[in-house]
Amino acid sequence: MLVVMKAQATPEEIQAVCETIQQLGLRAHPLPGEQRTAIGITGNKGEVERGNLEALAGVAEVIRVSKPYKLASREVKEEDTVIRFAESDASIGGSALAIVAGPCSIESREQAFAIAEQVAASGAQFFRGGAFKPRTSPYAFQGMGLEALRIMAEIRSRFGLRIITEALDNESLDLAAEWADVIQIGARNMQNFSLLKRAGRQQKPVLIKRGLSATLEEFLMSAEYVMSEGNYQVVLCERGVRTFADHARNTLDLSIIPAIKRLSHLPILVDPSHATGRRDSVLPMARAAIASGADGLLVEVHDHPEKALSDGPQSIYPAQFARMMDELAQIAPVMGRSLTRGDGQPADSALQSHHES
Ligand code: PEP
Ligand code: MN
Repeated sequence: MLVVMKAQATPEEIQAVCETIQQLGLRAHPLPGEQRTAIGITGNKGEVERGNLEALAGVAEVIRVSKPYKLASREVKEEDTVIRFAESDASIGGSALAIVAGPCSIESREQAFAIAEQVAASGAQFFRGGAFKPRTSPYAFQGMGLEALRIMAEIRSRFGLRIITEALDNESLDLAAEWADVIQIGARNMQNFSLLKRAGRQQKPVLIKRGLSATLEEFLMSAEYVMSEGNYQVVLCERGVRTFADHARNTLDLSIIPAIKRLSHLPILVDPSHATGRRDSVLPMARAAIASGADGLLVEVHDHPEKALSDGPQSIYPAQFARMMDELAQIAPVMGRSLTRGDGQPADSALQSHHES
């Protein structure tokens, strides 16, 4: 259920409606919009008695939300959610494209700093790097843990990049919440409901990657888990799903972008790196992602991918990232979006020496 407040409703009236909802043993989620505030109600088993709420001061109407995901749905909030960051121009979901770049894993201070410097120069606003890695093999590199988080915090102060890192479990979630700006919940954990709830009980924005075989509804229900706990700063990320295709690591499902945009107000990024698993496919899919209406990209970049401890084959070189940003700067205006650029110039010579585009 959803209580739509009148445009001129006062903060006191909104507060009084929230209190009435809580007295009914339910949870109130005030969601301010440009025109008016809507208050989502969760926790009800069936229909909530409208009469009680409709009679309250400042209430325009009480409506039923038809979708199983309530707070994530456009029925509850018409305008796009824009996530902003204190002391930074970075945002996710607004007209500016959000670009997240960095290595799959933080491997050393030198490696992380070298990559961060180059992606910042090309205009990335967010730096990604795994500290806790979900690896298929228990013998594969598992991440540097807390040390990696410390390195990323230094990168934030040095280059002004906001930091995104993955949480695997309760312990790493608490650490990521303390050290990073955005917490990533990986594809394998998309339906780890207790982890999603915990992510919903802390304040930092949460980026949820689509599960390897998740439907759109399952994906949005994962966002709903976080939101139902009171954290409305959720970003979705399409990263490819498993199919019979054997030419790529996964199949990038760009058709989910317009579908998500229709059904939800949440921003959605595309990760062309995990979606394809191939360096030479990242740029074409990045272009297509922006053209399909994504709010930005999450891309793996490594300065020595042949030596990378994880996901080397899909990591692009910094020079390729610079070129990607140049191309996206041309595509963005067609989509009514902007792309903030760094002061870096694409290193064409380095690009040519890799014979890749
Ligand atoms: C990652 O971003 O490095 C990662 C492990 O992603 P995913 O959960 O999409 O596989
Ligand atoms: Mn990776």
